[in-house]
Amino acid sequence: MLARIHIQQQTAPQANDGDRLMDAQATILVVDDSPENLQVLSAVLKGQYKVKVALNGERALALAQAEPNPDLILLDVMMPGMDGYEVCKHLKSHAATANIPVLFVSSRDEEEDEARGLSLGAIDYIVKPIRPSIVQARVRNHLDLKRSRDLLQRLTTQDHLTGISNRRRFDDFLDMEWRRAAREQAPISLIAIDIDHFKAYNDHYGHPGGDQCLIEVARTLATCVTRPCDLVARCGGEEFACVLPSTDSAGAANLAEQIRLGILARALEHAQSGTHTHVTISLGVATVVPQADESHQALVDLADAALYEAKSAGRNRHVLKAR
Ligand code: GH3
Ligand code: MG
Ligand code: MG
Repeated sequence: MLARIHIQQQTAPQANDGDRLMDAQATILVVDDSPENLQVLSAVLKGQYKVKVALNGERALALAQAEPNPDLILLDVMMPGMDGYEVCKHLKSHAATANIPVLFVSSRDEEEDEARGLSLGAIDYIVKPIRPSIVQARVRNHLDLKRSRDLLQRLTTQDHLTGISNRRRFDDFLDMEWRRAAREQAPISLIAIDIDHFKAYNDHYGHPGGDQCLIEVARTLATCVTRPCDLVARCGGEEFACVLPSTDSAGAANLAEQIRLGILARALEHAQSGTHTHVTISLGVATVVPQADESHQALVDLADAALYEAKSAGRNRHVLKAR
């Protein structure tokens, strides 16, 4: 099951940063302590982009962190209080803002100033006085690059058919959270999910019907698993998984039951099930506090064993294994 399946790459139409940029209404945050400079830069960008402005570093950070995050930031270096370098450092050290391209705009054209800005993670350095066509061209180029990066990120981490995380993302996430649980000696739970009699479903309703069922199941999982630190993934075929960091066995079993009932409540007809009149799932729930030097495979194996027992015991149920 989880241990035995292969990565499946499929297609996933989902709204994301890339699509937002393609709408040509990218949002640019312009930061400068001089209102005149802000006005000049805003005028240069306004026709093509949504422009937000900040007169100091603190305000810039607040606007950068607010959803939806800006797509690009033009950042003045010299500002009273928190200067541009410091703002950049903050932006790059927080996950929500680390990937926003930062272009420094400065009247200081010394080599060391520019080098410092770039070493802090800025993507470019524009020297004042502003030349409108150069600013426009650089902003456009960096937005294009960001769009490509976002698309690549999406293609490598999302399941094409359902839009939820794919196997690769699942592996990376589980590994990261497993290490954290080991460090903190905290429990981590995994729910392995498999649709019951799905081969019969495909045979009866056709492959496109099967695909639609997979999309419905993924949607239901995403609705049931609401904590931002949890991950729902399609691990391949008709197999899904939920990674639940800092979750004990009672919490994981509780969620597994909510998921099982959530699928039943969708009432997806399954005339060939043999278990039920509608689509059902079996769930293997595993909870572990990682031992030193133990691999996350231990958790995957335990969840697989639990899933196997759930299938053998008649399907449409969860089995819990904790240690
Ligand atoms: P069980 O109740 O024991 O889980 O039986 P099952 O029929 O669900 O399990 P089995 O592993 O025998 O069959 C899984 C089926 O899932 C077979 C395969 O055709 C189908 N499948 C795998 N990937 C896809 C997909 O991307 N789309 C569709 N439509 N079907 C898929
Ligand atoms: Mg299967
Ligand atoms: Mg199955």
